[in-house]
Amino acid sequence: METRTPSPLRRAVTEALAVVFPVCCAGCDLPDLDLCDPCSAALRPEPRSRRLEGGLDVRSALVFDGVPARVIRAFKEDGRTSLAAQLGGALRGAWPPGTEAVPVPVPTTRSSMRRRGYSPVALACRRAGWHPCGLLRVTRSTADQRALGRDERAANLAGVMTVDRRAAARLAGRSVVLVDDVVTTGATLSEAARALFEAGVHVAGAVTIASTPRRSASRG
Ligand SMILES: [Zn+2]
Repeated sequence: METRTPSPLRRAVTEALAVVFPVCCAGCDLPDLDLCDPCSAALRPEPRSRRLEGGLDVRSALVFDGVPARVIRAFKEDGRTSLAAQLGGALRGAWPPGTEAVPVPVPTTRSSMRRRGYSPVALACRRAGWHPCGLLRVTRSTADQRALGRDERAANLAGVMTVDRRAAARLAGRSVVLVDDVVTTGATLSEAARALFEAGVHVAGAVTIASTPRRSASRG
């Protein structure tokens, strides 16, 4: 996992913008605060599980809808890294009880890393109090998953991730739990699990901050 921090210039620009555009609640736009109490309460984890077609168990802290969806988008797309503490707290609540394993974030593409200056998933892991292990790398860019159906998503992602063999060797046989921000069809998590399985790494499950409600499928 790349851990590049934002450049001083980028940070200065972000801080200057915060003065020009006063902050408002990421969940409901209430002015002058980052997150109001009711929206904060809407981020309390209520973990739910589902099993993907390939057999991977995924536990998600929140439903990707309403306030949680708005806050996650602000965290990922608007650079509001201050929300990582709340979302990391939710993520921590999704960890499968009693599971001894190493958290492995689903990797960020180089272009999104450049665009954002941080990896939302790795940052949320750290705010959850975990030490994420950057075992996976994205090896090529993919088409935007949002326009694709279930089978097309799987084909689009096939072979897109590789395992850092040296990091895998340091695991010394310990299991891992995959971590992502939002699960929709599960194609991304399944592909990550497949890459790890092929590298001989045991995947005990996956956790995400949120899962999309079944009626919509707008993410990978
Ligand atoms: Zn609010």
